[in-house]
Amino acid sequence: MAPPVGIHDRNNAFADWLTAFRAEALKAGITAKTFDRAMAGVTPDPDVVAADHNQPEFVKPVWVYLDGALSDKRVARGKALLVEHRKLLDRLEKAYGVDRHVVVAIWGLESNFGDFMGSQRVVRSLATLAFEGRRPDFGRTQLIAALKIIQAGDVDPDGLLGSWAGAMGQTQFIPTTYLVHAIDFDGDGRRDIWTSLPDTLASTAHYLDVSGWQPGERWGYEVTMPVGFDYTLADMSVKKSLDAWKKNGIKRADGREFAARDTNAAASLFLPAGYKGPAFLVMNNFRAILSYNASTSYALAVSLLSDRFRGTGAIKGSWPLDERPLTRVEREELQSRLNGKGYELGKPDGIIGFNSRKAIRAYQKAVGMPADGYATSSVLDRLRRN
Ligand code: CA
Repeated sequence: MAPPVGIHDRNNAFADWLTAFRAEALKAGITAKTFDRAMAGVTPDPDVVAADHNQPEFVKPVWVYLDGALSDKRVARGKALLVEHRKLLDRLEKAYGVDRHVVVAIWGLESNFGDFMGSQRVVRSLATLAFEGRRPDFGRTQLIAALKIIQAGDVDPDGLLGSWAGAMGQTQFIPTTYLVHAIDFDGDGRRDIWTSLPDTLASTAHYLDVSGWQPGERWGYEVTMPVGFDYTLADMSVKKSLDAWKKNGIKRADGREFAARDTNAAASLFLPAGYKGPAFLVMNNFRAILSYNASTSYALAVSLLSDRFRGTGAIKGSWPLDERPLTRVEREELQSRLNGKGYELGKPDGIIGFNSRKAIRAYQKAVGMPADGYATSSVLDRLRRN
């Protein structure tokens, strides 16, 4: 049901929604006292509605995103923080087996080392999303989780701050992730990812640990492919050992051998900018980072930032800088043209996900283009020609 337009009607509709939601929350184990304290005076936030409905016209090319993520300033600050918090990081590596450089890289990218945690009241944002967001079920589930956090006494309703989408604290955990994965590492009885650094970094390390982190393994390697390589193999769903990839002609970009301890790891070939750009074999720890945030560009940024902290991580391959990223309208056009040619990918939405990449690959293969599944203007031009 679309919310009524008039502000008075809207407030009435929200009050009705809140009454119904209160019953749902109480059934889920929230006490009336917690609910009424946390939700007192809460109104829908128009800024949250605007942010939720804002679909960007352009997606930054991955190399522009990486330039920002791996800025000299962020690298220098991360290196200094690794020294400053060495003792805490020693204890965390011992407890969770997770590489400190990756933990600090995530901290740097999620909240710029605690600078940007979001200053919106999470209960208000989530109530807005539950009432009139694009994904009301997400809002409801997260709001109940947020009320559980308040009920457990970890933080006051006023201290439960985060982004408009409900990502909270220095780890940017959504409430359900917090409930399962947040850690009280400083032992004061509260899981505080807002102001306690031990709790923050332990929560991140714990999350990676339970997401399949393999101690001692790298995240991956930059690699090169031989001429005539079959790019349909470059897909996160294709997993092989490094030895098997070597048989496909894949080599490390720096000419060295893969580390012996990594040779049995399940590796996938990842081409962040298609076949013209740099290539990476990514392994279990890259996948663990992906479970933190499902964007492959994000996982690559965390991985490379962790390497930069160690003084490595410069990319040898070059980016296809002359390639213009498609606009959302063009991505939708590409999708509907593929649908029209029988490469079914579902309703065009401008988001190039698994089904779109699969359809692009099949089309590229059929017309003799390198089948990397990457949405470019050359694929769109080819589709427009016939
Ligand atoms: Ca604590």
